[in-house]
Amino acid sequence: MKSIIIRRGKFSGKTLAIFGGVHGDEEVGVKIIDELKNGLSLEEGTVYLVYANTEAIKKKKRFVERDLNRCFFSENKNSSLEDRRARKLIKIMDKCDAVLDLHSFSDQGSDAFAICEKNAFEIANKFKVAVVSDGWSEAEPNGTDGYMFDKGKIGICLECGPKNEINKSLKVARHAVEIFLDHFGCKKNKTKTQ
Ligand SMILES: [Zn+2]
Repeated sequence: MKSIIIRRGKFSGKTLAIFGGVHGDEEVGVKIIDELKNGLSLEEGTVYLVYANTEAIKKKKRFVERDLNRCFFSENKNSSLEDRRARKLIKIMDKCDAVLDLHSFSDQGSDAFAICEKNAFEIANKFKVAVVSDGWSEAEPNGTDGYMFDKGKIGICLECGPKNEINKSLKVARHAVEIFLDHFGCKKNKTKTQ
């Protein structure tokens, strides 16, 4: 299975990435990439659809050797599986104007929330989330959102919902993808927003 799929629109535009499975046991992002792989058609720009931690996704584990979401920093020379994967993904992120990274969490009954810095609030505030919070790139460094922010670009980590409420999480994620693509002038995709 290809882990990085590129979709290009008819016209040039922004370059974006949507990540699923940075944590391999968080099904929602992986399912969204599955859906987009089949359903996404763009008018403008380029979108990378990324199964982020492929080995952890196969094993349905959060990670194999190390939390991938602590491996995104420019000087990373570490040798774990996740560090090596991060270096590959960073090459894509460096081409992108913005990254939307889809996660889920264990805490049952809690609402979706978004993590990003202020430069992304305009987008994240339109998501179906209870809270948009910033300042995490210092508290929990070297995630996808912090990496993009450090480069002066937009990174949003969307915690779509509890792992065991997959349908609810999928709705939050599908809606967010629409908002994200719309914001950057890429066209709507064919997945339904409900
Ligand atoms: Zn996660």
